Amino acid sequence: MTSAQVQIPAFVGGEKKNLIGGRWVPAASGETIDAINPATGAPIATIAASGPADVDAAVAAARAAFEGEWSRWTPHERRKLILRVHDVLLDNFEELATIETLDMGAPLARTRGLKEWTSQVLQFYAGQTALAGSATPAQNSLPGDFLSLKYLAPVGVVGGVIPWNGPLIGLWWIFGPALATGCTAVLKPAEDASLSVLRVAELMQEAGVPDGVINVVTGYGAQAGAALAEHPGVDRIAFTGSVGTAQSIVRASAGNLKRLQLELGGKSPDIVFADADLDKAVPGAAMGVFTNTGQVCVAGTRILVERSIHDEFVARLGEFTKTVRVGDGLDPQSQLGPLISQRQLERVRKYIEIGSGEARLVAGGERIGGDKSAGFYIEPTVFANAHNDMVIAREEIFGPVATVIPFDTHDEAIAIANDTPYGLAGGLWTQNLGTAHKASQALHAGTIWVNCYGVLDPSIGFGGTKQSGYGWKGGREHVEGYLYPKAVYLNLD
Ligand code: NAD
Repeated sequence: MTSAQVQIPAFVGGEKKNLIGGRWVPAASGETIDAINPATGAPIATIAASGPADVDAAVAAARAAFEGEWSRWTPHERRKLILRVHDVLLDNFEELATIETLDMGAPLARTRGLKEWTSQVLQFYAGQTALAGSATPAQNSLPGDFLSLKYLAPVGVVGGVIPWNGPLIGLWWIFGPALATGCTAVLKPAEDASLSVLRVAELMQEAGVPDGVINVVTGYGAQAGAALAEHPGVDRIAFTGSVGTAQSIVRASAGNLKRLQLELGGKSPDIVFADADLDKAVPGAAMGVFTNTGQVCVAGTRILVERSIHDEFVARLGEFTKTVRVGDGLDPQSQLGPLISQRQLERVRKYIEIGSGEARLVAGGERIGGDKSAGFYIEPTVFANAHNDMVIAREEIFGPVATVIPFDTHDEAIAIANDTPYGLAGGLWTQNLGTAHKASQALHAGTIWVNCYGVLDPSIGFGGTKQSGYGWKGGREHVEGYLYPKAVYLNLD
């Protein structure tokens, strides 16, 4: 099947609006932003360019819903609702995958693959609804006869801000725990990729999510995002994005001391020890960088290779890289799509230029189709013989650029791996159990993969340390972040 045979959903096109209190409304200013298909550079719809007035309205709707009927829903009712959302979404997943591909470029092979993941994530949150409102009798040492209970209560209105690299994944880290706990949410998707989030919100309405429980306000970060971060009616901000934006959100949140969850960037190490099975390590480490055209927070962009196998590894990595097929995401043959935008393309090309002056270019490096191309395509790129103080080893590029760094001893590998301001993830390729255990303990990062890269179970979750942020997405800890403990003392005398 060629890309021309993929059915373009009727949803794609026209003017998309915000969802506020169950109604679809344009930005108060009437302004819009073009949604661009990165495969062609062409506009495919417009989204609302929202500002403080729209955020105000959405937060008011979320507050009213939080304090209204929704607060009396039982855990069982919330569980049934999440499972209805699950069913409606899965029934419409081909449409959602196509919208995501058109809006942010990832190939259908990837976006269709999110169906199973979406099913797992929603079932996980459906299984967590009994936590909110649960009470544990706690022993006390008070004089007299007291019963003391510790409750877990929903924090209230949650503001979500997510990036463009995987909206169909990112939105569940806000809506999932909000629905599970009885919180309400206002989500601001990225200006470069909002369409799939808007369609999911429509489908959630269809599944019966009450008005105001979930709200979506699109627009630029500096306007809509910043307004949400500083809004006094928001109790918690769940942010995924860059370190710089996180720093401004921390400052903006000070007014009402919002709770924060910050999931940020990385420059993750992927260490290949001399005893690794290279048949697995070469493609595994390569796709650990190139997946989603390198626009992945956990990408293992620093590949640390033991010197005795360095040259062989680099040669095989270069060969593998040349076989990776880049093209329009609608083409089922494409393994990688374009970068998200012209701006991102320029950013990645700037890093490739810097890398060419610092290290040895082994593969890639060129814009596909040259400057005449309308799409934002770049070749997957490998630099070798690098060292850790080069710009391409220190800064997050967020493109398909691998930097290979040789090491001599295991201690040196760990020291290089940890020599970064980030702490999101790391990979290890070894057949030695002792090496795997010792290195996983020694790495400062929220997730370590051994002989694999990038797998994620929503019931376990992930998060970062150092400048990769704080908080945890998925797992029970995530749900607990949407709750606060409340002690109740009952005098029984
Ligand atoms: P970004 O920080 O520029 O934008 C992310 C979101 O924040 C967007 O919705 C944007 O509109 C909004 N925003 C921008 N300025 C804002 C402001 N002043 N106040 C409030 N919101 C604002 O990030 P990006 O470049 O779009 O995304 C890529 C970054 O996200 C990378 O650093 C990547 O590693 C990170 N990321 C992290 C994770 C994770 O879970 N750790 C997952 C995906 C992406």
